[in-house]
Amino acid sequence: MSGALVVAWLRLAASRVAAERMRLTDLDAAIGDGDHGINLARGLAVLEARLAAGDVSMEAPAPILALAGRTITGTVGGASGALYGRALLRAAATVEPGHVGAGMSVAQVAAALRAAVDGIAALGRSRPGEKTMLDALVPAVTALEAAAAAGSGLPDALLRAADAADAGAWATLPLLATKGRASYLGERSIGHLDPGAVSSTLLLRALADAAAGA
Ligand code: ADP
Ligand code: MG
Repeated sequence: MSGALVVAWLRLAASRVAAERMRLTDLDAAIGDGDHGINLARGLAVLEARLAAGDVSMEAPAPILALAGRTITGTVGGASGALYGRALLRAAATVEPGHVGAGMSVAQVAAALRAAVDGIAALGRSRPGEKTMLDALVPAVTALEAAAAAGSGLPDALLRAADAADAGAWATLPLLATKGRASYLGERSIGHLDPGAVSSTLLLRALADAAAGA
């Protein structure tokens, strides 16, 4: 994974989240406060502008991921802004700062996603099964690690990760929320998809599609 692919991913993610912002916000309105899609779309739009302004070198993944982490932390409100921001900063810290050339291997991308997911779990004091973004992200990183171990190429490995995230997001439907604002609803959180699990799936699908050259 090159710096150019990270940029292509973040741009595609910005346009996908912008297109889906009302769906995400409606999901959040059902079991939260209805800000998730609008906040995330706004933060990604600011990031896109900063990338376009040439605020960072496009060559190495780490500084781009760090800019993304700082931007999301500073511009996306709510729990998800802090959690996604931390995830991106953790991913950036995992990658060597000067990593250029051939780019990150599948195993290095898996290690970066693992660090990102661990960062979310630590900040959120959360784990899978609590109806959060981790219900999409943990199966995704497990699938990515398995694909790396099996010697898959990056596009195929990321496709498997996105598919695992998708299945994990759908599996939040019957769960009882025990973390975040949705937990205030208790039993009434059952029967709704978790907005963060759905946005995580969108972000990973954008990454898979960017890697596939779509
Ligand atoms: P809020 O408006 O409640 O501050 P957002 O709307 O920004 O939060 O994001 C809501 C999403 O954040 C949830 O759908 C869930 O996926 C995720 N989330 C909330 N709390 C946690 C947590 N402790 N750990 C992991 N994810 C969480
Ligand atoms: Mg919210």
